[in-house]
Amino acid sequence: MTNSDLADRSVVLVTLDSCRYDVAASAHTPNLAKLGPLLRAESPGTYTLPTHAALFNGYLPRPASGPFPLGGRGVDAIWRSAAARPSKRSSAIPFGGPTLMAHYAERGYRVLGAGGVTFFDASEPANSLPGLFPEFLYFGRPARSAATAETRITDREEQLPLAHTRKLAELCLEAERFFLFVNCPSTHIPYTTPWSPLTDRSRELLRRLYLLHDGRAIGSGEDALEDRDVQALLQMQRHALEWADSRLGDLFSRLGARRPLVVVCADHGEEFGEGGRFGHGHPHPMVSTVPLWCGLLGEG
Ligand SMILES: [Zn+2]
Repeated sequence: MTNSDLADRSVVLVTLDSCRYDVAASAHTPNLAKLGPLLRAESPGTYTLPTHAALFNGYLPRPASGPFPLGGRGVDAIWRSAAARPSKRSSAIPFGGPTLMAHYAERGYRVLGAGGVTFFDASEPANSLPGLFPEFLYFGRPARSAATAETRITDREEQLPLAHTRKLAELCLEAERFFLFVNCPSTHIPYTTPWSPLTDRSRELLRRLYLLHDGRAIGSGEDALEDRDVQALLQMQRHALEWADSRLGDLFSRLGARRPLVVVCADHGEEFGEGGRFGHGHPHPMVSTVPLWCGLLGEG
């Protein structure tokens, strides 16, 4: 496998928003397993914005075990902006522009993004990330909508980009080569998917978890989350990941004939009280440790 072969491929880049490494390690994800082994990686950011800013500049979460296994060999980096950061370390795909999207667009690829968490609401002028794409599809709730418990704790399907794999694949396949980015919010609180609709119990657990995420409760009294409650919430994220895996299986089967390079990772994890806090956006090993898979589709 030569670097030029890798550099000429179409690309699918997916972030599983907020997905914890331990949840991924205990989930059934046969489609992700087709890419390669699950890697334990360290994210450059603790919340969506900084991680994606780094990601789009080529800085993926780094596997703790060392190089990225790709095409039968190990590479120190899959992408590296060689112009801004000259280095002797090996990178599979050096590029010269400010972002991966600019690099691939300049080479004639169709560059398409899709998102579901509010940092990707392209209609919100304060959001910098979707504007980095020539085309961006946003499926989530409006970033400026009042975030009440009722609007946040809700069943979801159409709001999840991976519910739209047929449309995304059709747009990609219209072009000779494509760069597709998908931010997947199913693994982000409230963890609901068509496979895991709300129940009275999960609705109550999510209400308490939102209070803890927002820092408005200290986890005592009636609103405290006991260990069995935390386990139930982690199980919800596990189901949300397994739903995403099934949808990625559909996407992979639609795009596999183009033999794309695929990277799937979380942008950050989530703390569930291990260090006394809940959520993300603060430094803690449960926040910075994330799952990552990379591989090449259609290799036989
Ligand atoms: Zn995020």
